This record gives sequence, structure tokens and C-alpha cells, in this order.
Amino acid sequence: MNSIISLNDISYSYDKKPVLQHVNFELPKGAFVGLLGPNGGGKTTLIKIILGMARPDQGTVTLFNKPINEFKDWNKIGFVSQKSNSFNKGFPATVYEVVSTGLTSKVGYFKFFKQKDKEKILSAIDAVGMSEYTNQNIGNLSGGQQQRIFIARALVSEPELIILDEPTVGIDSENVQRFYELLHDLNKHNGITLLLVTHDTGTMTKYATDIVCLNRTLHFHGKPEEYARLTEKEMSKLYGHPVNIVSHDH
Ligand code: ADP
Repeated sequence: MNSIISLNDISYSYDKKPVLQHVNFELPKGAFVGLLGPNGGGKTTLIKIILGMARPDQGTVTLFNKPINEFKDWNKIGFVSQKSNSFNKGFPATVYEVVSTGLTSKVGYFKFFKQKDKEKILSAIDAVGMSEYTNQNIGNLSGGQQQRIFIARALVSEPELIILDEPTVGIDSENVQRFYELLHDLNKHNGITLLLVTHDTGTMTKYATDIVCLNRTLHFHGKPEEYARLTEKEMSKLYGHPVNIVSHDH
């Protein structure tokens, strides 16, 4: 079985409000999947379920072929959220220090880093092309640069899968493009599986291996070319309402 994540018949409600219903999804190893859908469609909730932060009312979650309640290798999964990208100017931490926090789950807080850990931290910073900023204050970097650092923080524990929830919100379009190039590179050359929640539909159809659309349940799972060929009518059927809810890049 080559799925890293397997969701079987997942349903979830907040109080009595159903948010996810009968979601089935397989994330193949090596894929770069774009998770699209209208606001409120349940994308973040689904990510929370995958990360074990919410328990589904129904259905099963399997991670790396283990039922989620038996899964222990959380260092195999990196997570980068939209809110990562929010250090203000005065924040007193260097790029090196921020990236090093990606290792604390392994070494424990306040422990000294061994030489091997230092090398891992530097190589993660290098992998995102930010070596020259290693000793700079994180708060002085742009949103796009900060987001690269959060990728480095996720990379430092050598994950097999990175989940990103709207990582490009607030980043200017040129840097969004560079950010996608970086993700593409990590996927293609480092073999890291990626699951990315995004509204960057146009860019995503260029880089993703698969596109998934979620609006309470999965309405589409296919190749970007198939997604790009959907007509407006099919699209509005997919989303349950007119398509302009999802912004397309032109
Ligand atoms: P998306 O990420 O696709 O925008 P979400 O998973 O954030 O969707 O939200 C799905 C629905 O669940 C929305 O209607 C939202 O208002 C609701 N919701 C999200 N979080 C909570 C919460 N903590 N309590 C109650 N309702 C919530």
C-alpha cells in the first residue's frame, strides 16, 4: 500500500453543524496535492483531523499504514500554517533559532544542540535558499522569506510529508511563484510528499500532481489537466454554488 494518508468515510460536526461528510481520500507517497475549495468548505478541519488535533465523529484515519491512534512517528509529518508567517519586526529570534525549534520535539526544550543537529539546521536553511540570513532577526525578513524559514523549520526533522495550510496568504505574487518553485523542488528532488491547502488555483494547476476539491465532501480528485478542463457549469456543481467563490490566477 503506497498511501501516506488514508481517510475512510470521515464525518465531522462542530456542535451539531456538519462540516465534513463521508470524506474518502488517499494521499499517494511522492504526490504534490493541492487541496482546493470554497471558504468554509472544511479544508482546515480536515487538516486538523489528519494531524490528530480533532477526532472525527465517524470514519478512520490511517497515517503511514498505521491507525492514527497507534501512530507515533509525528516527526515524519511537517506542518506549515498560514499563521506561521506573522513575526513582527521586534521578535527576538534569529533565523537559526527559529529553525532549531523544529528539532525540539526530538531533543527537548533547553537542551544543547549537538554538532549533528547544528548541521541539520544549517542544511535545512540552505535547502530553502536562505543561508545568508542565518543570523538575521526573523522579524526583519519579508513575509515570503519568513515562510521559507518555516519550511526550513519543518524540514529539519527530515519529514516525509509536509502539510501546508494556505502558506502564501499575504505574500506578494513574485514571491508566491518562488515559494511554489521551492515546494516543487522539495517534492521532485527530495521526494517529500506535499499536501497544500490553497486558493492559488492557477499556480497550483501548474505544479501539483493531483488536485482535490473539498466542499463538505470531496467533489473532485484528479489530475491538474482534468481540473483545468472543467467547465464553469461543472465547477459550480462541484462547489455547490457559483464558481467565483474560488479565486483563479490569471
Ligand atoms: P476552510 O478551511 O475550508 O475554510 P474550515 O474547516 O475552517 O473550512 O471550516 C468549515 C466550517 O466549520 C465553517 O463553516 C466554519 O465556520 C466552521 N468552523 C470552523 N472551526 C470551527 C469551530 N472551532 N467551531 C465552530 N465552527 C467552526
